[in-house]
Amino acid sequence: MTALNTTTGLSREFVISLFTVAMLTAVVYGVAFEQGTLTGGTPWLHEAFHDARHLLGFPCH
Ligand SMILES: [Zn+2]
Repeated sequence: MTALNTTTGLSREFVISLFTVAMLTAVVYGVAFEQGTLTGGTPWLHEAFHDARHLLGFPCH
């Protein structure tokens, strides 16, 4: 049986699942869609994943 958090009523597994989905969403955004918005206009994150973006077929430039 899954223990529930007495404050939130959520199971540990559910909270871990939510965290994992949030982190994976952030990674996909960083690799596939970041154009400098998160980095103050300097697209260093875009450049860091530039080749991976092309390899995976995401639109780039
Ligand atoms: Zn490109």
